[in-house]
Amino acid sequence: MSGHNGKVAPAAYPPPVDTQREFVKRGLDPEDELIEVGVAIVGGGTAGLSCANRLLQLLADDPETTERLGEVPVAVIEKAKTCGGHNLSGAVVRPAALQELFPDLTREQWRQEGFAFGEVTKEAVYATPTSRLAIRIPTPPPFKNHGNEVISVSALARYQQQQAEEAGAYILTETAATQLIVQDGRVVGVRSGDKGRGKDGEELGNFEPGTDVKAHATVLAEGCWGHLTGAAIREFDLAEGREPQVWELGVKEVWKVPKPLDRLIHTMGPWPLKIAPKYGQIGGTWIYPMTNARGEHLVSIGFVVELEYADATTSAHDLLQTFKTHSLVRGILEGGERIAWGAKALPGGGYWSMPKLSMPGALLVGDSGGMVDTMALKGVHHCVKSGMLAAESIYAALKRGSEDLSGYEEAIERSSVGRELWEVRNARQPLQKGLIFGAPLSGIQQITKGRLPGRADWHRNDAKPMFVGDTKDVYPKPDGKYTFDKLSSVFITGNATRDDAPNHIRVQKRVPREVAETWRWMCPAGVYEIPEDAPEHGTVDVIVNYTNCVQCGAITAKGGRLTTPEGGDGPLYQIL
Ligand SMILES: Cc1cc2nc3c(=O)[nH]c(=O)nc-3n(C[C@H](O)[C@H](O)[C@H](O)COP(=O)(O)OP(=O)(O)OC[C@H]3O[C@@H](n4cnc5c(N)ncnc54)[C@H](O)[C@@H]3O)c2cc1C
Ligand code: SF4
Repeated sequence: MSGHNGKVAPAAYPPPVDTQREFVKRGLDPEDELIEVGVAIVGGGTAGLSCANRLLQLLADDPETTERLGEVPVAVIEKAKTCGGHNLSGAVVRPAALQELFPDLTREQWRQEGFAFGEVTKEAVYATPTSRLAIRIPTPPPFKNHGNEVISVSALARYQQQQAEEAGAYILTETAATQLIVQDGRVVGVRSGDKGRGKDGEELGNFEPGTDVKAHATVLAEGCWGHLTGAAIREFDLAEGREPQVWELGVKEVWKVPKPLDRLIHTMGPWPLKIAPKYGQIGGTWIYPMTNARGEHLVSIGFVVELEYADATTSAHDLLQTFKTHSLVRGILEGGERIAWGAKALPGGGYWSMPKLSMPGALLVGDSGGMVDTMALKGVHHCVKSGMLAAESIYAALKRGSEDLSGYEEAIERSSVGRELWEVRNARQPLQKGLIFGAPLSGIQQITKGRLPGRADWHRNDAKPMFVGDTKDVYPKPDGKYTFDKLSSVFITGNATRDDAPNHIRVQKRVPREVAETWRWMCPAGVYEIPEDAPEHGTVDVIVNYTNCVQCGAITAKGGRLTTPEGGDGPLYQIL
């Protein structure tokens, strides 16, 4: 099974998890031991909070329905310290959905509220054949951003949290939803996680048990294939007949810079990635200008890599550090200061990989439902719109006195979400064949809006055989000022996971070196270590420093499983 460089797929070493037994609770606790709410929304990110705000707008004019939802009509359950703490995006957004959600708020007010940083007026796309050359190319259609707005999703979540609270939502931060509660074939709520357990699961002095949260309707807004979303997909067979989900990982920094950047930049490589098909690498970068309300000039810079690669030494974190050494980037960042860092995975499969979005008693919204156009690297507007449509479908069902939420599926299909994702439905799959073969075909699919016959298929990222290659050879030695190592990056996220928290990362601890190296290089937070005296070939031990985890989710794509940590643990992003 192991030891021969290039023959080992992480899928052969699945995580020790029994999803349905561990993460689905059969039946509710007795009435006097649970909390009852109207609608439970799991995840206080863009999608979940858009759902909460839209629902509260609808209920504001309808006291009768509000009363039927009980004392707590809308509850949002968020594992971060505050909403926004675990949210990260590029993030240049198409503004229409957010304008529809908050029609009285102008874009100037978005900036005054501190979550938006300016309209895109100029843009440029470059090919970077080497570390010195940047050749401007015509802007491909997915990268046209004129008129869009650069925002921060973590700041937007804080704004949306405040709006929802003022409208009457009950926001439970520092609370992880750890189990989906299913009774008589229907989702009836979620269970919150215990707090105050030690390394081995033992109860510490401050132990607080979790609670069942019973709800008329549950909305899973957990982001990139979340913990309960995965359990729901299995329990209700929501991925039947769909293509497998595939993933990308993005690492981002925000810099304060001495002079303003006058345009939005994307680069399409190939440098610093390898173009030879055996590496399986596809990725790109962004540099977005941001001017804050104080008039300070900031820049959002990031590297996104598809998790389909085969060279185990591929590291999005180190690729970003390498990219910063390009002369194009030095001209923008040098003399500046890094003020934020973060990492997050995103679903890349698009239309064909979207699971069924409804099940009895519950709905999937935003990244939980795979609603990202990764050709354009855009999901925020789909998150807002899907959250709103979920709220409208739940409200309509309540008005009818019905429990059937399946109308949401059709509402998504008919909306801008369904239409836009349909047009790019076949554009990403050809890239699994590599840049050289895949890019021309992908281009044709984009121009024809996916009209070439057939449904392009693909395989799971963890099915890709890995080899220990030489991508790592280009990574710069961090100088701590301009280029950074993983641990100093995690340090500035405000990660507050206590040292004796229970382990929330499920991976096998003895695996072939190819798999261990994959995890070691991939993890942007430096969680996985291989002992120095481990053999060069064959099976090695893996040490899991889980308290560094920034919950990016990438491990779930490459052979492991991220579960929920204790509520409040993890990073505290402010401006990502
Ligand atoms: C690197 C990168 C760059 C991107 N660039 C762009 C861009 O430029 N433009 C664009 O439009 N889109 C972009 N996207 C996509 C966009 O950011 C996402 O589509 C969007 O932010 C997802 O929002 P969401 O609300 O679905 O999920 P998230 O923002 O992930 O929110 C989910 C929330 O749920 C919480 N949660 C999860 N599980 C639980 C649980 N069990 N219990 C309690 N809480 C839970 C999390 O802590 C989190 O706060 C990018 C994404 C990435 C990763
Ligand atoms: S441990 Fe896994 S989920 Fe956590 S930061 Fe590393 S790759 Fe991401």
